[in-house]
Amino acid sequence: MPGFASKHAALISLAFVSLASLAPISVAAQPQVDSQYGPLPVFELHSGFWINLHHTLYQQARQSRDGRGGPSAPSAPARRTAAERAAWDAAVFYYQANYADKDLLFNTELMLLKNQLGDLENCDELSGAKQKFCDAGLNPKLTKILEGAAAVYRAHEWPEHDRANRNWIAGVAPLVREKGLGLAERLSEVYQARWPREKIRVDVAAYANWAGAYTTLDPLRVLISSTDPRNQGSAALEVLFHEASHGIAEPVQQAIIRECRQREKAIPRDLWHALIFYTTGEVIKPVLSEQAGAANHDPVYTPYAVRERLYQRGWDDYLKLLTRFWQPYLDGRVTFDDAIAHIVSAL
Ligand SMILES: [Zn+2]
Repeated sequence: MPGFASKHAALISLAFVSLASLAPISVAAQPQVDSQYGPLPVFELHSGFWINLHHTLYQQARQSRDGRGGPSAPSAPARRTAAERAAWDAAVFYYQANYADKDLLFNTELMLLKNQLGDLENCDELSGAKQKFCDAGLNPKLTKILEGAAAVYRAHEWPEHDRANRNWIAGVAPLVREKGLGLAERLSEVYQARWPREKIRVDVAAYANWAGAYTTLDPLRVLISSTDPRNQGSAALEVLFHEASHGIAEPVQQAIIRECRQREKAIPRDLWHALIFYTTGEVIKPVLSEQAGAANHDPVYTPYAVRERLYQRGWDDYLKLLTRFWQPYLDGRVTFDDAIAHIVSAL
């Protein structure tokens, strides 16, 4: 989330239903979570097997590289058989050699792999040996590595990860159902952008990246960690809309760039990101405060960037500019163009 920076669900579900009548349902072949909680507006939430395996391996490979944990660490589950340990360690080593130094958000290969593994959530293999549509077209070595690790993951961590993902989804689903459409409309209006016609696909995984969530574009897809402490409780709703804003707030970035060029100023790094943090927080605050008030909780919601002290880490000046020049726009007192022009001229 503090990063720098579809396939249609119904089709997957239909394909799954028709095959389910022919073949026994394997543990991996759980349908997306949507079908259990009913369709939600705006977002389509998934707890997918392969994408969770992928992020778990990536996480362990990074830890292993950094000398924290890894294959031979004492935290590795002792109940694995020798064969399971060998398959798992081979996968972690493969990830360490090939992916641990690449960024999940900025590396094209990792982005494509993530999207593909998300699409194949209903498959119990990746080679197409049993079902042709499950042929991921990955290099044979990677297919073998992932399928080997899959059996271990399915037997050990996956049930717990899947449960955490589903709990996270169940926690945020009522708010999305009740407030999602209104928030999406408000944010599109603020950013002067069209909200995507299709629901935004969100993959929920035990591990995301260092930020706890990230979003890749073309196609717009969000990945959120269900276990990251920053993403819990009512913050889950803000994380969803912050990440979605990465996909729709492009006009703001364009306007900042345009104004900077006109004034021959350097384009400030992260101003756009600070702006979407600020905006999501302000737009969501009344919604969550109202919720909290009704439930007799602390009646004022503290936005993510305030709570996680993002402004104090070098964004203090941005916060001053946003409060002074962007807030009046959110309050309907100045135009979008004027607000951006004021911010940039004060830089
Ligand atoms: Zn972000």
